[in-house]
Amino acid sequence: MAIATINPTTGVVEQEFDAHSEAEVDARIEQAHSAFRALKSTTIASRADWMRAAADLLEAEVESAARMLTTEMGKTIVQARGEVRKSANTMRFYAAHAEEFLTGRSLEDPSVVGASVAYTRHEPIGVVLAVMPWNYPIWQVIRFAAPALMAGNTALLKHASNVPQAALYLDTLFERAGFPEGALRSLLIPASRVEGVLRDRRVVATTLTGSEPAGRSLASIAGSEVKHVVLELGGSDPFIVMPSADLDKAVATAVASRTANNGQACINAKRFIVHTDVYDAFVQKFTAAMAALTVGDPFDDGTDVGPLATASGREELAELVEDAAAKGATVTTGGAPLDGPGWFYPPTVITGITEDMRLYAEEAFGPVAAVYRASDAEDALRVANDTTFGLSSAVWTQDEDDEAFFVRGLDAGAVFVNGMSISYPELPFGGVKDSGVGRELSAEGLREFTNLKSIWKG
Ligand code: NAP
Repeated sequence: MAIATINPTTGVVEQEFDAHSEAEVDARIEQAHSAFRALKSTTIASRADWMRAAADLLEAEVESAARMLTTEMGKTIVQARGEVRKSANTMRFYAAHAEEFLTGRSLEDPSVVGASVAYTRHEPIGVVLAVMPWNYPIWQVIRFAAPALMAGNTALLKHASNVPQAALYLDTLFERAGFPEGALRSLLIPASRVEGVLRDRRVVATTLTGSEPAGRSLASIAGSEVKHVVLELGGSDPFIVMPSADLDKAVATAVASRTANNGQACINAKRFIVHTDVYDAFVQKFTAAMAALTVGDPFDDGTDVGPLATASGREELAELVEDAAAKGATVTTGGAPLDGPGWFYPPTVITGITEDMRLYAEEAFGPVAAVYRASDAEDALRVANDTTFGLSSAVWTQDEDDEAFFVRGLDAGAVFVNGMSISYPELPFGGVKDSGVGRELSAEGLREFTNLKSIWKG
């Protein structure tokens, strides 16, 4: 894939970038490696000062950064501003809490291990390679980089090829705020050159947010090199609606959760599993609300849904819908790409999905909602868990027994009860099954890339 900004609203190539040469990549790895030597001996307090300064810079530049995101991948300008602000807040969160999260523990009675003192320390490990997707070009990087840098590591960023301006912006953000030069270095390279970087002895660990095939490939290389890996992969999150739910709130949240980021978030609700008692009412209200959304120019404050980020992404989404419709599913609204320039796809609702349809098993990365009818709670849970993914989930109910049943039974990294799946810096984020391994955010995210060292003193 060319490394280029191609505006999804117009389809026009706005700027192309040459890939870094092998010599340039080597120099950039060396910069990150030297920066690690400098950073690991700094105090958490100085890193926190720099992190706060970087957050201030990012926030001061919210308008230009948001315009860059909307231009490169088509998210609405309102949501782009939200992404930038959330990233700055998360940087401040780690600046405030890194000391506490990095504090080791001491054995209360060290004599049980024959020591006078026994304790643990979290130490930085070195240069971490981050392979990141285009859907939240700043947020995805910050949620990895803020904790990684606060722990004293440095980062190499291989960003998605369609968001090179975001990659170059992040390349300088941290050093402009005081971090050593090279604390985060972007590599403008195609995916095919990731392997060489990961096998470099100066790179000690890796993380990838993106699709399952990319994650599997990276993890197999990391495995062969015995390098730690964290994977945040796809999701096909269930959104369960039970008879006791507040239906109007559930519908409004279902719409927001399916269409946020133009439907291209890993934790968008994608499968709506509705109890038969409220199924007809839900489908009618949900269809009407999805049909009423404003699709259009993402720079317009009034737009709800902008274009999909890439032509190929829209093609894949259209194929999933066509396959379902050809096999007998019912499209209650939307269902075909919009004519005209740009990669627009309308909010779409589909019912009558059966197991032979691709949509049953595959992630729909765009504003397409698959609605299922469930006969009871057991049936809803069976459908919800009948997927290779396990990222997040939501359940709508006022019944405490139902709530306990789903909280325990859902195979997912998170369960949101009467709310919409989103990420918070305070809560661990990640998946089970093919949705990934490891956790980001919270204390756990910061500790992923540390050496937990045990100290024993006789
Ligand atoms: P993708 O193709 O996997 O791309 C993600 C990143 O991986 C890009 O930088 C890409 O580079 C690189 N890449 C692709 N193939 C690779 C390989 N074989 N080896 C190394 N790097 C490789 O993902 P996408 O389809 O653009 O993004 C959407 C997917 O990401 C969805 O499945 C979504 O659910 C998932 N996602 C997950 C989370 C989460 O937190 N769990 C968050 C956001 C998105 P190029 O651009 O150069 O190809």
